[in-house]
Amino acid sequence: MTGSTKYIFVTGGVTSSLGKGIISASLAKLLQARGFTVTIQKLDPYINVDPGTLNPYEHGECYVTEDGAETDLDLGHYERFLDVPTSQANNVTTGRIYQNVINKERRGEYLGKTVQVIPHITDEIKRNIQALGRKGIYDFVITEVGGTVGDIESLPYVEAIRQLKWEKGRDCLTIHLTLLPYLRTSGELKTKPTQHSVKELLSLGVQPDVLVCRTEHAMIKGMKDKIALFCNVESRSVIESRDADTIYDVPLMMLEEGLDEVVLSRLGIENYPEADLTQWKDFLRRYKEPKGEVHIGLVGKYVELQDAYKSIKEALEHAGAALETRVRIKWIHSEKLNAKNVAKHLSGLGGILVAPGFGHRGIEGKIEAIRYARENKVPFFGICLGMQCAVIEFGRNVLDLDTANSTEMDPDTAHPVIALMEEQKSVADKGGTMRLGAYPCKLSEGSRSAGIYGKKDISERHRHRYEFNNSFLSQYQKAGMIAAGINPKGKLVEIVEVKDHPWFVGVQFHPEYRSTVAQPHPLFISFVDAALASGDTANATSKASEKEKV
Ligand code: GLN
Repeated sequence: MTGSTKYIFVTGGVTSSLGKGIISASLAKLLQARGFTVTIQKLDPYINVDPGTLNPYEHGECYVTEDGAETDLDLGHYERFLDVPTSQANNVTTGRIYQNVINKERRGEYLGKTVQVIPHITDEIKRNIQALGRKGIYDFVITEVGGTVGDIESLPYVEAIRQLKWEKGRDCLTIHLTLLPYLRTSGELKTKPTQHSVKELLSLGVQPDVLVCRTEHAMIKGMKDKIALFCNVESRSVIESRDADTIYDVPLMMLEEGLDEVVLSRLGIENYPEADLTQWKDFLRRYKEPKGEVHIGLVGKYVELQDAYKSIKEALEHAGAALETRVRIKWIHSEKLNAKNVAKHLSGLGGILVAPGFGHRGIEGKIEAIRYARENKVPFFGICLGMQCAVIEFGRNVLDLDTANSTEMDPDTAHPVIALMEEQKSVADKGGTMRLGAYPCKLSEGSRSAGIYGKKDISERHRHRYEFNNSFLSQYQKAGMIAAGINPKGKLVEIVEVKDHPWFVGVQFHPEYRSTVAQPHPLFISFVDAALASGDTANATSKASEKEKV
């Protein structure tokens, strides 16, 4: 597209959790399918500088970008939908905005002026929004504003949108997402909360151009006209967004509702090609019409909140679709597993995945799960802390290093098989100080991993402080746990594999961040394939289902 970058803002009203991230990603997918270049940005109104220090119970998974930014999990959706990497610039929090402004103030950049929310904070917000547009590579920058309109925290963001709309005119557009609650007793969808929410936005000086109405039931005839009348929008700009079976249905539902066409026409763009969604539809077909199914046990300590393992869940589903297999995840609480009950909970599963994590809670349960997988030759995939636990388990039960541990869990252990990286020893701050982002890794000739990736040099994203302690490496290799991937510079062990096992791979990095609809991750595909081959009997022996939790 020639001409200036167009800015699309996505705000939310009535309640949180309406799926602004999925609507933003779906619109972006449709624009991309019509040949435009798009990026999506998330503005988070909390005061943490980034979500890296947030407990997953607060905000779900922390997603990590190539350049090592610790970000909101919505960026994972953006990458999975678009297959285009995001970066630090794609996630901005109030904490970061204020930090930048305060740093500038300390450097004297405001030349003696009183530093205020308007214009200094709003200018910084506008600068961050336009920074993506200034790269000159995107036709569209979609900016999703976290939280709900009317929150105190969101005010400066809505004000920044108001100013940008005024400055940029037709190059800007606002989509407001609302809820149409359904009253069962009267069997009706109600539009009043939407009207109120638009009024709230209007009171802040922003007229939404498009309304996306989230609803459990189909809107009845005339309802769009009614909303349009009360909210000063065209009837065709009222978009129905029904609950979907899967988030991957939403782009097609939005295509049907004409969301992208309304957006393009409001932005004055004509003459664009049909949306090419061939690959997306092929993925959906494989995903929705599987030829078989497999049960994977996901062992972690946040299983009550599946958002904590969002990217892993999605990566398993991408792999399942690639293999035309439904992956049923059995969520297993690591704190509840012990030597006595482990067989009961894990028997019959096709594969066992031990999740990343921090701190000692649930560690012993993870180690028991790994022992079970190793001894019973069940395909095992350990990610980050899951890999570290596999090293600890092997140390304790194969090498007889009875106090083998990570110094994260036991700083004084006699067998520190996982230990703090040298450069981490002097680090005091918790935020943004881990080994973060993409690092290269060299795969060992003849290893399972080299076969899976089909190449020797890979790059994967990291988020950890501890690592395999190389002083134990030769002992491990002799006993059958090999280093299958090494960081070429620091010689850090990035992948361990157990020989004489159908599939036992532990990775220090997070392959799940790289899995997208267009490119499911090879490790996940291989793991699910191995789980299928292992003769999953979970169907017959347990009631394992997506909902079942231990
Ligand atoms: N807690 C471990 C470390 O810091 C593992 C981190 C993770 O699983 N992401 O090294």
